[in-house]
Amino acid sequence: MQNKNVILMIEDEQPIRRFLKPYLESHDFRVLEAATAVEGLALASSHKPDIILLDLGLPDMDGLAVLRRLREWTFVPVIILTARGEDREKVQGLDAGADDYLAKPFDVEELMARVRVALRHLARLKQGGEEAVFETPDFKVDLSARRVTARGKEIHLTPNEYDLLALLIRNVGKVVTQKQALQEIRGPNSLEQGASLRLYIHQLRHKIEARPARPKYILTEQGVGYRLKYVEEPKASSPKSDVS
Ligand code: CA
Repeated sequence: MQNKNVILMIEDEQPIRRFLKPYLESHDFRVLEAATAVEGLALASSHKPDIILLDLGLPDMDGLAVLRRLREWTFVPVIILTARGEDREKVQGLDAGADDYLAKPFDVEELMARVRVALRHLARLKQGGEEAVFETPDFKVDLSARRVTARGKEIHLTPNEYDLLALLIRNVGKVVTQKQALQEIRGPNSLEQGASLRLYIHQLRHKIEARPARPKYILTEQGVGYRLKYVEEPKASSPKSDVS
């Protein structure tokens, strides 16, 4: 009967909770609220939410510490909420296993989009894998055959370019930090990796984007990393709302 997704907000600012709660409920979530880190950790373990919104600036504990505590026992998607000036913490949070971030003040539509992407990502992980073929109107990647086509023509990617693209595809819709991307590139010289990451992204855009200078798919997240834009599947799948 009860199959609503449960979302836990760990956020000490009451106006934000008061604003988000009805909005999330209207999108069919059951909402749990915590104003402190201690309360949030307790609710996370007692209620096993499907997704957590975690404010980094909490009164009783550092949000990053909360995230690390969560990651000791759960892969629940965590979206961190950051205030201005928390750029360093934001990147640290993503590298420590947060799924995504939103900088305050954020747009609720954007929040919902991030939440949907995170839930979809988790569902795919639970199913035990990704789709073998990733397709957009401009390019297609057959992950089982390592074959890439752009606008109908097969294109050649170097191993690093391909690995980077595959990483972005595995995380489609989610931000990938520079550090996560660098770990994917098996470069010989770590000192040059920051520059080579930018170069690989540049080359990838030239190979798959219709207008590389104005990328539509591989987006730069300033100071954080990159995000492969999620494009809704064009095929109209039959609605499943009448099941159960
Ligand atoms: Ca706060």
